[in-house]
Amino acid sequence: MKKIFISLFVVACALSYSCKNEGSKHKIEKQDMNGPEYTSKYICPMHCKGSGSENPGVCPVCQMDYELRE
Ligand SMILES: [Zn+2]
Repeated sequence: MKKIFISLFVVACALSYSCKNEGSKHKIEKQDMNGPEYTSKYICPMHCKGSGSENPGVCPVCQMDYELRE
């Protein structure tokens, strides 16, 4: 009986952990919208991480030309 209780507890922990994980993942995606790959004057059309510049150029990640953000 005790064993069943423990395994239920473990399952509940795993479920709440995965829910928490998904929530923080969502938060990170929202934060990414405020990154330089979105807010720079010139941005990569693919919004690659680490891209974005105040000057025209090429994305260092996917090699696409930066687009002027309007
Ligand atoms: Zn890119």
